[in-house]
Amino acid sequence: MIKVGIPRALYYYQYYPMCKAFFEGLGAETVVSPPTNKAILSSGASRAVGETCLPVKVFFGHVKFLVEKCDCVFIPAIRSLGRKAYHCSKFLGLPDMTKALIPECPPILDPEIDLNQGRRRLYQIIYTLGRYFTSDKGKVKKAVEEAWKVNLAYSNRMSREGITPIQALEGIYQSKEEVDPGDNMLPSLRIGIIGHPYVIYDDYINHRLIFRLQAMGGEILTPEMVGEEALYIAMTSLVGKQHWSFEADIIGAGECYLEAKVDGIISVAVFGYGPDSMLINVVQRRARELKTPFLHLSLDEHTSEGGLVTRLEAFLDMVERRKRICA
Ligand code: SF4
Repeated sequence: MIKVGIPRALYYYQYYPMCKAFFEGLGAETVVSPPTNKAILSSGASRAVGETCLPVKVFFGHVKFLVEKCDCVFIPAIRSLGRKAYHCSKFLGLPDMTKALIPECPPILDPEIDLNQGRRRLYQIIYTLGRYFTSDKGKVKKAVEEAWKVNLAYSNRMSREGITPIQALEGIYQSKEEVDPGDNMLPSLRIGIIGHPYVIYDDYINHRLIFRLQAMGGEILTPEMVGEEALYIAMTSLVGKQHWSFEADIIGAGECYLEAKVDGIISVAVFGYGPDSMLINVVQRRARELKTPFLHLSLDEHTSEGGLVTRLEAFLDMVERRKRICA
């Protein structure tokens, strides 16, 4: 059985169930790298040039982990996932960068995904990918249908039940790790989080941000809990046309949280990434207008856990006091 490696980084948090269903439908086995840790980050960073963003360094570390554990690695070149909104160029260049920087990587399955080129082109690309596993077109068709069904169920479940991708994945593939409510310091605070899924849900990159907030008793809202259509509508109501794929996860989510009257918003981004700063700025201005507390966390591989926790505690403390005074 062919083993397909899937790095637990970047597109993993949104599309892993769909990829797994597709490859298994073709008779392959999927192998996923473990959650990010120090060794994975260091090994990825050792291959990347200095100015590469943290999530891509982490991605390279995951690919390196998969070398010799699988027969091929799935690294799509994502240009656009529709609505004429584009992913950042790093996503498009991932397969080529990986080939150049990790020459020992097994063969890379690198379909170029650009939904703006239409359905027909997408099916051609998927059938070409499927030929790596089988010449039976019917089998590929069935695998595509099953993968799409799984993908819809996954995203519907997150918005319906108000859970994160991590909780949804735990529910689907393993038993759920219960969060210890600790001292329950924040019994009634609702905190919205905005940012890229691969930053929000990678506990090593963000020093277990969600876990910490939940352990303090806070109720967390993340973009997946809102639902794709609601994010899109909220985003376009503020900025009109969408340009970047993740704009809805930042501007759309921020606006939805503000409409839902959250007690505070935390934005999480990696250090030095231009477009994010502009998007975050839109939400920050709206939060200021509506007098909703806003905290921006900028992360890189040198971000100290202690410093981050101190900022988080100070922010939550301020939000709680403000809420008590306004009640
Ligand atoms: S959007 Fe920013 S953080 Fe994400 S991969 Fe591109 S450069 Fe890196």
